Amino acid sequence: LVKIEGLHKYYGHHHVLRGIDMTVNQGEVSVVIGPSGSGKSTMLRCVNLLESISAGRISVGGQLIGYREVNGKLHDLKTKEIAAQRREIGMVFQRFNLFPHKTALQNVMEAPVHVKGQPKAAAQKWALELLDRVGLGDRAGHYPSQLSGGQQQRVAIARALAMEPELMLFDEPTSALDPELVGDVLNVMKDLAKSGMTMIVVTHEIGFAREVGDTLTFMDGGVVVESGDPREIIANPQHARTKEFLGRVL
Ligand code: ATP
Ligand code: MG
Repeated sequence: LVKIEGLHKYYGHHHVLRGIDMTVNQGEVSVVIGPSGSGKSTMLRCVNLLESISAGRISVGGQLIGYREVNGKLHDLKTKEIAAQRREIGMVFQRFNLFPHKTALQNVMEAPVHVKGQPKAAAQKWALELLDRVGLGDRAGHYPSQLSGGQQQRVAIARALAMEPELMLFDEPTSALDPELVGDVLNVMKDLAKSGMTMIVVTHEIGFAREVGDTLTFMDGGVVVESGDPREIIANPQHARTKEFLGRVL
């Protein structure tokens, strides 16, 4: 479903992504780990069109992201076309960034109503279903400030799912949470994986990688150092840098 080929990203002269290749099949969970500054967030942001890419190509569901190819030449997509592509990709960040002046229900309904133009009654029914699914059916009327960090993050997941994306990206979704709240969020992500969602998850939760991940990719310095079966990599990393990193996070 996702194919990243030869992805490079520069910020000015800073060469942040130095040729990333990655494939995620339909229904698979791809877990990405790596030290701070290795380019994990930048890679996700390129997939989600939050950043322009400097070289290489990304396709999701067979569709080139950000460009149209005509006779071997790439042309930028129009703003509207970019918005349409982004709607197919849900993203959950480290910080929950819900709308503070809207309830959980209103947060989840926002995009279906305002972006998709869904009738309010239908959007509300769907939003309640999603809140139920993340274990917050009884918190629909709460504002973000009345919810714990873990609950807010589960609302953020429901909000991303409301647009029925074909791909979900998670950027360290649990690293801003108190330890006792991490499990609930990981369980929601596990259920989502079981339901067949294709996911790329940047996380330092090695237990999640081992249990839920179909592949584990270790990035360092803007390149993929090692990628493969999570259990094999965790038990028997092939590269010194992977070994050293796992030693620090395990
Ligand atoms: P972390 O684990 O800390 O989240 P990361 O692997 O997600 O790290 P990125 O956020 O992708 O790393 O950053 C990779 C490099 O790109 C870093 O050196 C960072 O300083 C740089 N960088 C990221 N965003 C920008 C930006 N908007 N402008 C300039 N440099 C940036
Ligand atoms: Mg990051």
